[in-house]
Amino acid sequence: MATLIVHGGAGAPPLHERPERQAAVERALEAGWERMSAGPLEAVLAAVRLMEDHPLLNAGIGAALNLDGVAELDAGLMEGTELRVGAVGAITDVRHPIDLAREVMEDGRHVLLVGTGASRFARARGLETCDPSLFVTERQLRRLHQGGDTVGAVARDDHGRTAVAVSTGGVYEKVPGRVGDSPIPGAGFYADDHLGVACGTGIGEVFMRLCLCFRVVQAMAEEGAEEAVRRALAWLEERTGGEGGLIAIDAAGQVGVAWNTPFMSWARRTG
Ligand code: ASP
Repeated sequence: MATLIVHGGAGAPPLHERPERQAAVERALEAGWERMSAGPLEAVLAAVRLMEDHPLLNAGIGAALNLDGVAELDAGLMEGTELRVGAVGAITDVRHPIDLAREVMEDGRHVLLVGTGASRFARARGLETCDPSLFVTERQLRRLHQGGDTVGAVARDDHGRTAVAVSTGGVYEKVPGRVGDSPIPGAGFYADDHLGVACGTGIGEVFMRLCLCFRVVQAMAEEGAEEAVRRALAWLEERTGGEGGLIAIDAAGQVGVAWNTPFMSWARRTG
């Protein structure tokens, strides 16, 4: 059985924004599901790509801005069969950061590229670039919402192959040059063939300190996804007082979803 879960970030968005965020996540789920027959990697990419275009979600257009008012974007993806990973950090001018993460993965020499070197790599690979102002929305300039809300997707197909993708503008009022957990394998996302796949949203510094997603995936060797994400979040709270959300799929195809913020938009499909 194939499964796809998508989230649009854990946080405390204004009440009136929540239905639209949920609708955006459900559209991303459908876009991802349509690509599921091409494999879990294509499914998570399609879902995240769509969320990068939605101005209410903190990824691509509408992302959180740094202290200079610039969107510096992070994204990462991983597939569990061969442990292939690609990630990018502090991207300002690449239209779809998740596509650039994919190029880094396909290229295979490195795991993580950041800043101007990553932009150059994007151009060399023929990716669409853009003016950095494309990502800046009025809503973010006026800081109408405080919170992080990375977007992410995890998938497992009926052969047990897994993939995960995440994309974010990071946290609000971040220092220029800051890279969060989202492009760090093990912190913001992780996939392993026999154990499962997970990704998170929350204050990245804390996720990095705890290597939270790696721990969820490891825990899934012993327990189901539901228990693994619940315990990881309890541990996050206990150890750091941190807030966030996690989604995961274990080796049996079971799904785990947990968050300790007021709201997290998410949707799943199995079939
Ligand atoms: N994890 C993201 C970061 O710290 C933000 C979030 O998901 O809330 O970059």
